Amino acid sequence: MYWNINDECISRQELEELQLGRLKETLARACRAPFYRERGLGDYTIRDLSDVRKLPVTTKQDLRDAYPYGMVCTSLDEVVRLHSSSGTTGIPTVVYHSARDLHNWTELVTRCLYMMGLRRHDVFQNMIGYGLFTGGLGLHYGAERLGCLTIPTGPGNTKRQLKFMKEFKTTAIHVIPSYALHLADTLEAEGIDPRREFPDLSFAVLGAEPHSEETRRKVQDFFGIRAFNSYGLSEMNGPGVAFECPEMKGMHIWEDAYLVEIVDPDTLEPLPPGSKGEMLLTTLSREAMPIIRYRTKDLTSLVPGECACGRTHVRIARITGRSDDMMILKGVNIFPIQIESVLNNIPGVGRNYRIILEQKGHNDHMIVQVEVDPSINVDTYKSLERLRSRITRELRDELLITPEVDLREPGSIPVAEGKAVRVIDNRKL
Ligand code: AMP
Ligand code: ZN
Repeated sequence: MYWNINDECISRQELEELQLGRLKETLARACRAPFYRERGLGDYTIRDLSDVRKLPVTTKQDLRDAYPYGMVCTSLDEVVRLHSSSGTTGIPTVVYHSARDLHNWTELVTRCLYMMGLRRHDVFQNMIGYGLFTGGLGLHYGAERLGCLTIPTGPGNTKRQLKFMKEFKTTAIHVIPSYALHLADTLEAEGIDPRREFPDLSFAVLGAEPHSEETRRKVQDFFGIRAFNSYGLSEMNGPGVAFECPEMKGMHIWEDAYLVEIVDPDTLEPLPPGSKGEMLLTTLSREAMPIIRYRTKDLTSLVPGECACGRTHVRIARITGRSDDMMILKGVNIFPIQIESVLNNIPGVGRNYRIILEQKGHNDHMIVQVEVDPSINVDTYKSLERLRSRITRELRDELLITPEVDLREPGSIPVAEGKAVRVIDNRKL
C-alpha cells in the first residue's frame, strides 16, 4: 500500500523535527547562492518552524533577476541538469539539480505513483512534454524506478497514442486534462468504445493545469478508469509535489520535502487553518538550488483532519486558480475554472471552450466560445438558440456579468499541444 511506510506515515512530531532540521540546513545552504547572500539571508536564525515567516519570500521575478546562475549554491561540478518553466515570454526561470536532487525528486514521484496503485507490472504511457518542461521526465523516471514498462510518447500525435494504448495494453496514462478530453473526442468521433478498445486501462494521472472535479468525472466515466490529480511546478522540481491518494479527498503534499504555508496574497500574512489563500513553498531537501518561501500564486487551502489512507502528510484542496490568472471585468473577479464548471454541467456543451476578452469602448467584453456536443443538431436553429441562452443565463448567474456566448462546431477550437490556452486577453492595459 505504501512505497515507504516510514516516510509516508511518519508521526506529526517526528515530521516537524525532521522539517526543522532540514529548514536549518536549507537556510545555511541557500546563503551560499549570490542571490540569497545579497538578500541577507545569513542574518536570520531559525529556532522553530514558525520562524520561517520571518524570512523573505521569493518570486518568479527574483528567479529571472538571478538568471542565469544567481541562485545556484553548489559548484557547477555538482550540477547535472537544468529545467525551465513553461513561461513563453521574457527571461526564462531556470532550476538546477544535483544528482542527489534528481534521486530525491524521482523518489517523490515514485511515492505518488505507488500511492495511486501503480505496480511494476503496469504499462505507463507518458503523454506529457519531455524536454525543458518537467512533466515528462519527472514522471518518466518515477515510473521507471517503480519498474513499470514506461512509454515516452510525449504529447500529440493522437492516432499513434491510441494505437500504442491498444497494442501495448497500456494500463496508465499521464495527460494534461484538456488533452484527455481531446482523446475522448477523437474516440467518440470514430465511434470507438474506450472500455472495449482499452480493457486494461485503469489509471490516468491528470496534471499541469487547473481542472475541475467535473472534468475529472468526465475522464473517469468516458474511459472507465480512475483519474488522479497531480500537482507540481518547475520551481519545486515539477510533478511529485502533491498528489491524490485513492481516497481522492485532496492531494497529499510531501511535507518532508516541502514546507507549506497558506497566506493572504495581498499581505502575505498567514491565514487560519482551512482558509483559502496563496500557497508558499520552501524546499527542504534540495541541494543545488534551494528556494525559500516561493510564491506559487496558486490558490488552495489545507484539508482539515486525517486522511483515511493513513498518510500523515497534509492534503491541499484542488487548485482553484492562480492569484494572477484572475480576470477582472467591470470590477468583477473571475476565474476561468468558474466558467469551466458552469459549462461542464450543461448538457449539449462539447469538450472545448475559450474565453476572449475585448474592449468595447471603455467597457470590458467577454466572449465565451463553446464547442457544442456532437449529439446536438447544429442545423436546428431552435435547439442551438435554446442552448445559447441557457449558457448565457447560467454564466451570468455565476459571474455576475453577461458574456457573449459563441457556439462552435465540435473540434473547431484549436487544441494546444501543451497546456490549454483558455483565455485570450485582447484588452489594452
Ligand atoms: P510549470 O512550472 O510550468 O510546471 O507550471 C506550474 C503551474 O501549473 C503551477 O504553479 C499551477 O499553477 C499549474 N498546475 C500544475 N499542476 C496543477 C494541477 N494539478 N492543478 C492545477 N494547477 C496545476
Ligand atoms: Zn490519503
